[in-house]
Amino acid sequence: MNQIAENIAVIRAQLPPHVTLVAVSKTKPIQALHEAYSAGQRDFGENYVQELEEKAQLLPKDIRWHFIGHLQSNKVKYIAPFVHLIHAVDSLKLLAEIDKQAAKHQRVIDALLQVHVSKEETKFGWEAEEMLQSSAQLFGFSHVRIRGLMAMASNTSDEAQLATEFEQVHHLMTDLQALHPERKAELTVLSMGMSGDWPLAVAHGSNMIRVGSTIFGVRTAAPI
Ligand SMILES: *Cc1c(COP(=O)(O)O)cnc(C)c1O
Repeated sequence: MNQIAENIAVIRAQLPPHVTLVAVSKTKPIQALHEAYSAGQRDFGENYVQELEEKAQLLPKDIRWHFIGHLQSNKVKYIAPFVHLIHAVDSLKLLAEIDKQAAKHQRVIDALLQVHVSKEETKFGWEAEEMLQSSAQLFGFSHVRIRGLMAMASNTSDEAQLATEFEQVHHLMTDLQALHPERKAELTVLSMGMSGDWPLAVAHGSNMIRVGSTIFGVRTAAPI
């Protein structure tokens, strides 16, 4: 087994069956993605639109491409034809643009709303209160289906702090479901947990983890 296949196998052995593993392949060469694909990996996460487009053209068509980074409205059109799930939706403007582009391609695009829970100022996302207050608007698009929430926890090894943040996201999901019982069947995805914190995220309700460096090694290269 090559190293990438081995890393994936180690994670899968610890992962409950209801949790989706998204292999975060940003900045990594095509060969690395092929190795993961050969190991059975089908969900891949990318952060840069142009890199995602290039890789999607070169790799097998049954890959589910997740856009996990901050997405600019003017770039939605490039990924709208094929993207499987957009994780980090953080504005009404972006939702409206996804809706518009999805309609053009006669599809409904699945998306997650990004929640701001970390202590870092720079991270994007909605505050919980704000999201609940505007949820009727957020759910009002016919070509975007909100599937759940995404969050990035603080960059800390303080497990109590991380657990608190993951719990906040989990609670917000429950609140959203209560507020919109008609959406309960489709509001099922909680995307949280990365290389450093995914076991804790899963323990606190995550069912989709985004793991990069533990699978592909540390990132040194700039995006292709
Ligand atoms: C890069 C990235 C990841 C993966 O990070 P690792 O620590 O390498 O696992 C997960 N989520 C997002 C949003 C990222 O940008």
